[in-house]
Amino acid sequence: MFAKPRDVDLRIDARYVMPVEPAGVLEDHALVVDAGKIAAIVPRADAERDYRPAQHVELADHALIPGLVNAHTHAAMTLLRGIADDLPLAAWLETHIWPRERRFVSPEFVHDGTLLGAAEMLLSGITCCNDMYFHPEDAARAYEQAGMRAMLGRPILDVPTPYAADADAYLARGFAARDAFKQSPRLSFSLAPHAPYTVGDATWERVVVYARQLDLSIQTHVAETRREVDESLATHHQTPLARLDRLGATGPNFIAIHAVHLDAHDIDLLVAQGCHVVHCAGSNMKLASGIAPVSALLERGVNVALGTDGAASNNRLDVLDEMRLAGLLAKVATGDAATLPAHTLLRLATLGGAQALGLDAHIGSLQSGKDADITALRLADVETLPLYDPVSQLPNAAGREHVTDVWIAGERVVESRRLTRIDSPSLLARTKAWQARLA
Ligand SMILES: [Zn+2]
Repeated sequence: MFAKPRDVDLRIDARYVMPVEPAGVLEDHALVVDAGKIAAIVPRADAERDYRPAQHVELADHALIPGLVNAHTHAAMTLLRGIADDLPLAAWLETHIWPRERRFVSPEFVHDGTLLGAAEMLLSGITCCNDMYFHPEDAARAYEQAGMRAMLGRPILDVPTPYAADADAYLARGFAARDAFKQSPRLSFSLAPHAPYTVGDATWERVVVYARQLDLSIQTHVAETRREVDESLATHHQTPLARLDRLGATGPNFIAIHAVHLDAHDIDLLVAQGCHVVHCAGSNMKLASGIAPVSALLERGVNVALGTDGAASNNRLDVLDEMRLAGLLAKVATGDAATLPAHTLLRLATLGGAQALGLDAHIGSLQSGKDADITALRLADVETLPLYDPVSQLPNAAGREHVTDVWIAGERVVESRRLTRIDSPSLLARTKAWQARLA
């Protein structure tokens, strides 16, 4: 007796499928999608027999990977890409970025910049990002328009900006943004105190109370520069991370962004509290911030994700590039060519990011029952042949120009390198208009 083929929405046949969990590569398999979720990953012959898809996509020269997760960015800052390069962090922020933000950042700036960033991320195979910027409600509008998954960090500072006058106002605006978009299936929200040095103890304590009561993640830039650590030791007699631990901020919902300058006690804290670290190799190198101890963190079992940071300090929202940079940087830092091999980098760029964002039950690997967030890369061109090891090819030879198709919750948001939801000519025209104003 044979069961009738099951009607499903989509079947994608690919030369290689890399589920990430379990590790390894499946050859000549089909990924079956129904109602936005992965229904099965099976050999093509089985798919032929068992499923009747409404749509069938044949990607004979491609690899399918889980959608890449960019675990730290400020997408609206894409409008500031390249406006002030080759400067140390403090001078870059204080002389070039903060003055322009005070003058120009508005709902329109955030919407247009975030849409530009989302477009770039989608074309780079990134299906989910962790954003942190002013006006998160306008970023949310842009992500909804792009069809992209995003966690929005509600910004919190103790310094006044045109967005909010004090910590109360930041918190109130952040909660209003979450309330406005809480039904949006691809969006989630976290608390994003900017950094230990821009947020005082009293505000941190309030953030911790809200995070506990509402079960929200806390994400913050921490231990990014040597100067930050030295000033914290002088003022608080503790490292930035030890201070946040004293204030109750650390735990499995704590996302430590950068975490470059850690001492042994800081690493013990991250391990004991089950915190997540977002490694931003490109940004750390460009701003000469230092080298995060990623190999040591992974050896101790800390979950590490990859982030691009904002395009003003990188200058590309490109997680495939971050995989390559993270691998090379770790090898140079440890003197060990075997550290951070390709399959580890792929895991950090997908499941590591999903775990940091608390979304690993839904995304981060290609598994039945998870949301169908899928990136397809063509690996049959001059730059990617010969092909002996498809996983190794991703960080070491392929680039985002090889991303051809992207699905989010089963919806094809990039088709043969074309954005399906975003009108590219009008996006480019708006970006040029912003360039004229910001220059
Ligand atoms: Zn950042």
